Amino acid sequence: MSLKSRAEGVSTRLVSHPQPPASLLGITPPELAAAFTEMGEPAFRARQVLEWTFQKRAAGIEGMSSLPKALRAALAERFVTRTMSIAQVTGSKDTTRKFLLRLSDGRYVETVLIPANPALYGGKSDRRTLCVSSQVGCAYDCKFCASGLAGFTRNLTAAEIVEQIVQVEQHTGERVDNLVFMGMGEPLANYSHVTKAIEILNAEWGVGIGARHMTVSTSGLAPQIRRLADFPLQIRLAISLHGATDEVRDRIMPVNRKHPLGELFAALEVWHEKRKQHLTFEFILIENVNDSLEQARALARLARPLEAKVNLIPYNTVEGLPWTRPSEECQDAFLGALLKAGVKATLRREKGHDIAAACGQLRLKQETAEGIIESPVPARRVTIGAGA
Ligand code: SF4
Repeated sequence: MSLKSRAEGVSTRLVSHPQPPASLLGITPPELAAAFTEMGEPAFRARQVLEWTFQKRAAGIEGMSSLPKALRAALAERFVTRTMSIAQVTGSKDTTRKFLLRLSDGRYVETVLIPANPALYGGKSDRRTLCVSSQVGCAYDCKFCASGLAGFTRNLTAAEIVEQIVQVEQHTGERVDNLVFMGMGEPLANYSHVTKAIEILNAEWGVGIGARHMTVSTSGLAPQIRRLADFPLQIRLAISLHGATDEVRDRIMPVNRKHPLGELFAALEVWHEKRKQHLTFEFILIENVNDSLEQARALARLARPLEAKVNLIPYNTVEGLPWTRPSEECQDAFLGALLKAGVKATLRREKGHDIAAACGQLRLKQETAEGIIESPVPARRVTIGAGA
């Protein structure tokens, strides 16, 4: 969406009351300026509001003390600064912490804070990485993933994506240095909100996280990868690959039937050509599914021409799913085959880092307990080779 049409979106919201108040965390300066023009307020007031929202992190409009009281009251009718609350935190300061966030419509998403880590996504040392969600649920139905178990509910707005960072920073008192879009949902299926959130997160007037410290991970939406190759910010791209042949990928990732490896890798070549930037392949090792040495050799053939780095993640058990992790010998042999073939690869064994597999479990438990969804577990007992 262009800035102009976004601004028009704000104007429409202001004119056609009653509408739910818009979150200031999802608004860009031109949008806010348009709203203030419509309210007959000078432009410098819009700049003050942005500063209160992002730099001073005001938790409410009432607290924006440099604004006249009448303006604060008028703003409070149209805008809010928070739309979600932290329902639960698991983990401790030195370990991976999971935050269960309750959205304004009563649904839940998870966001995961990972402590200092050796360069998972290309930086020298990835300190305090936050793994954010982009959708409530997921339509892509990867067979090893808890996030897709109850299907897709809705896209998150740009504001809801940005607020995950704001909530975690406020709760912990720590800055988030790196972001990975690897939580619940397929980020590229929510393209406009995710890219708008990235612009806000990157902007100096916004959250101020460097573009190179943000990684979008996709299950392989080839057309959106081509589109993202023209996105102006130098974000990183990771591919949730998890299978090095169509045969294996078809069995565990239904998206591969729509965008098979040939189409995916043609899009990745475009990305590589335009961005001159290394890609990351995520590869969850699942026993007797994708852990053979043939898969390792096929993976090396895919990774080498693109100079892609491979992150191997031993599968972490998800309640209700039948998969298991391979033995450590098998994991080491797989890694060894990649390294021998000249591919840069790492193996992450630490519990809690296997985000892609484990993400979505807290939310499933909470929404099932509240009766928002029926328990999806019995309906999705999957057997290898059964497909989607
Ligand atoms: S791995 Fe990602 S794309 Fe696949 S079902 Fe889970 S959240 Fe969706």
